[in-house]
Amino acid sequence: MKKEIIVKIKPKHVNQYRSGYPLLTKEAIENIGALNKEGDIIKLVDPQGRFIGKGYYGRQNKGYGWILTKEEKQVIDISFVEKRLIEAIDRRKSLYRSKDTNAFRVFNGEGDGFGGFTIDYFDGYYLINWYSKGCYKFRDHVINSLKRIVDFKGIYQKKRFDTQGKYIEEDGFVMGTRGEFPLVVKENGVHFAIYLNEGAMVGVFLDQRDVRNAIRKKYSKDKSVLNTFSYTGAFSIYAALGGAKKTTSVDLANRSLPRTREHFSLNELDYEGHDILVEDVFNYFKYAVKKGLKFDTVILDPPSFAKSKKFKFSAQKDYTNLLKEAIAITEDEGVIVASTNCSLFNMKKFKTFIEDAFSQMRYPYSILEEYTLPSDFKTTKTFKEGNYLKVVFLKKHKR
Ligand code: SAH
Repeated sequence: MKKEIIVKIKPKHVNQYRSGYPLLTKEAIENIGALNKEGDIIKLVDPQGRFIGKGYYGRQNKGYGWILTKEEKQVIDISFVEKRLIEAIDRRKSLYRSKDTNAFRVFNGEGDGFGGFTIDYFDGYYLINWYSKGCYKFRDHVINSLKRIVDFKGIYQKKRFDTQGKYIEEDGFVMGTRGEFPLVVKENGVHFAIYLNEGAMVGVFLDQRDVRNAIRKKYSKDKSVLNTFSYTGAFSIYAALGGAKKTTSVDLANRSLPRTREHFSLNELDYEGHDILVEDVFNYFKYAVKKGLKFDTVILDPPSFAKSKKFKFSAQKDYTNLLKEAIAITEDEGVIVASTNCSLFNMKKFKTFIEDAFSQMRYPYSILEEYTLPSDFKTTKTFKEGNYLKVVFLKKHKR
């Protein structure tokens, strides 16, 4: 059996780990020098040397490793990994059976009992995202288990950690049959184009599935819809399918134009009837105010951090201002969809940004509905920040 490295937990962090917090943080470690090889199995003990939990050392933006079990005798081997995968796949049975959705998350890191990697499913293709070098050491366990459990067309992977140029990865292909990209997948019957052979962003963020559906069903019919930070236009497509009069998609990235057009065409919609603008959202707000443009539905789904030529945006610092800009160009009785994937603040805090924005703009508002991650992005109560998605549908009332 592989040697286990003893990690001593500082007194004031012991309770946190005893109650199941799965992420090992730097601050909690007494003997940081004991950690040297990522992927090593670690055994957490309290200052008296009593066992707390077992996991592995792996550095990712969030921490120094993940705790995987509270059973001292549990061995972290391939059968441990395989069990977690079987349970995860079992939980997604209804999605596997779905006729109108074939793109979803199969394994969600710590939510499914093993922090550090995720697996997404795209019509027979599996995409593994590895978030640390340490987790990547479990690659063979994960891939060999997956091979045994499911039938697949192909497996792809992305290393989402700093490889310092050491691993040369062409397109992330691991095994099976190479895909022909784009793969055309379905979500609630809507078609999306997926490129597994490109960067970290493959064409659609699967965690917004329920939000997109709500927009199509309840907030689009005969509406003018503004989709900011629109990426490949996923929200715009749902809005157009829901009967929007017109959608306007705004994103800074050049690729957003062909990708959004592609999504309109894939869904048999004429993109000529919609505006797709490659532009800084903050410039667009100014333009809209100058032209007196107003929208019935405004979607805000910015990245947590962004830097453009003129503007720097941090969700934590600037969301209130972003909302104020949106409020200014939303019709009375119109709807703002305020979304964020920033894990640095929770829903309660997010609602204070909303409250501040409306009160500074002196408009009354009401909350229509709220969303967090969908069930395939399984989270655990012991790791609240894992439920990073916060979406609030707001109605702007007359003054
Ligand atoms: N809302 C999208 C995902 C957004 S991803 C969806 O649901 O599919 C973030 C996007 O914001 C990226 O496409 C990026 O190009 C864009 N972006 C970042 N800063 C921007 C800015 N200042 N103006 C416009 N787009 C911006």
